[in-house]
Amino acid sequence: MKGDIIMEFNYKHCPICGSELLEAEMDGEVEGEKVFFDGLYCAGCEDTQATAITEYNAEQAERQFRRNHGLLTPDSIRDIRESLEETPKELSRILGYPNDYWTYWESGTMPTRAQSNLIRLLRRRKNYEFLRALYRETRVKERVKRKLPDVEDDVDVIMMYTEDSISDDTSPF
Ligand SMILES: [Zn+2]
Repeated sequence: MKGDIIMEFNYKHCPICGSELLEAEMDGEVEGEKVFFDGLYCAGCEDTQATAITEYNAEQAERQFRRNHGLLTPDSIRDIRESLEETPKELSRILGYPNDYWTYWESGTMPTRAQSNLIRLLRRRKNYEFLRALYRETRVKERVKRKLPDVEDDVDVIMMYTEDSISDDTSPF
């Protein structure tokens, strides 16, 4: 019966009828734009292609779209994070995004080109360290200003309150 998965999808044979899959240049639509990509096709099944093949082709179309526009893939975004040994939440914050953003990118949400370029900058550890320091400084300032609204906006004064003093719940800040 068509639709039943009878074999594992191995990119060489159709999981439904077992025919050898053909490589073909295809076109699809990603984000409202026409994309040409190398896909797979089962001549035996014709119009009713196996779900695994359809999904594979959709993934190829998206990969090509990302290549065309200089957008990072979920894998490369994860690689950058792992090389920094940082959590998705912390990296989202360091870049100035809500907590979940990095996770969305790793799960397949398409980053814009500006976001991709920003993430690419993190490949250089110095850039990551710079943005992390900036984020922590801003966070300390926000905490101090909230507790002491009248404190002067003086970095030296504010930075006397270290990261340790704000992470400790028993501190006056
Ligand atoms: Zn087939």
